[in-house]
Amino acid sequence: MRFNPTARLDTSRTRDVGGGSGGTGGGLGGGSLPIPGGIKAGGGVVGIIIAVVIYFVSTQVGGSGGGGLDTSAFTGGGTQAAGLNGQSFDYSQCQTGDDANNNENCALVAVENSLTEYWQDQPQVKGSFEPEAAIEVFHGSVSTGGCGNATTDVGPFYCPGDQTIYLDTAFYDTVFKQLGGQDTTFVRAYVIAHEYGHHIQDLLGTMSKVKTQQGANSDSVKLELQADCYAGMWAAHAEGDGFVEDITDQDISEGIGAAHDVGDDYIQNTVGSGSNPESWTHGSSAEREAWFKAGMNAGDDIAGCDTFSASDLTDPSSVA
Ligand SMILES: [Zn+2]
Repeated sequence: MRFNPTARLDTSRTRDVGGGSGGTGGGLGGGSLPIPGGIKAGGGVVGIIIAVVIYFVSTQVGGSGGGGLDTSAFTGGGTQAAGLNGQSFDYSQCQTGDDANNNENCALVAVENSLTEYWQDQPQVKGSFEPEAAIEVFHGSVSTGGCGNATTDVGPFYCPGDQTIYLDTAFYDTVFKQLGGQDTTFVRAYVIAHEYGHHIQDLLGTMSKVKTQQGANSDSVKLELQADCYAGMWAAHAEGDGFVEDITDQDISEGIGAAHDVGDDYIQNTVGSGSNPESWTHGSSAEREAWFKAGMNAGDDIAGCDTFSASDLTDPSSVA
């Protein structure tokens, strides 16, 4: 993935909010999850991966009334994770596509610019495109404006309460790599495009359709697969938009690989608990790959991503 070197980047929606207040490293202590805090070898890894899954259930379904995130799931936070994280970064120094080609942080800005460029003009979204999504990069832990507190362990997420994508870039080096994922520019772009898909859902009121939050055929899975599909729509349109110069076949296959690596069945099998479809929240690897591809083939019509009307989530062509 390469960016147009002469593109002028708009950094107004991306900012680094620094690290959290630290805390005692308690990690996730809510509910019945005995999850150790921080990033470390052995059992901690398992806990972190589960946290990614659990977190997304509460985050992406919430939203009305300024949040909806189950903040009881979070306690303490992230001291160990913070120790592994990179420095804070001043995104205002990302001025051109050339900067994006030479700096992964600036690539985040360029990808956000490209996503905004695409979705603000997408015919079915155009009239609803307000406000624009913001991106807040944090280190270790963060207090969101509408979804309580979160730590690196939970992975990137979208908060409907403040219409912001939260991301600790250390996620790619830790949790994602532990799942066997490749950390590439396009994989990072896919992750942001997925979260941006949740913003589009928020703008279109799709999140209110979510009544069931767990299970292979749950509304939560439909919401997640739709976000993958929206990511695919952007990927198919980004090249030549002024920000993205090219997306190679290899990029696309890496993106599909990333969709696979965050599938519920794959994560559960990797964790060692065995795949349990009744607890799925995001869909299987095969489904996530299929819907990302479906988005790439949807043209400019979001109806092709209507997972809520699909009779069979394993087959995007079953959309009514
Ligand atoms: Zn999601």
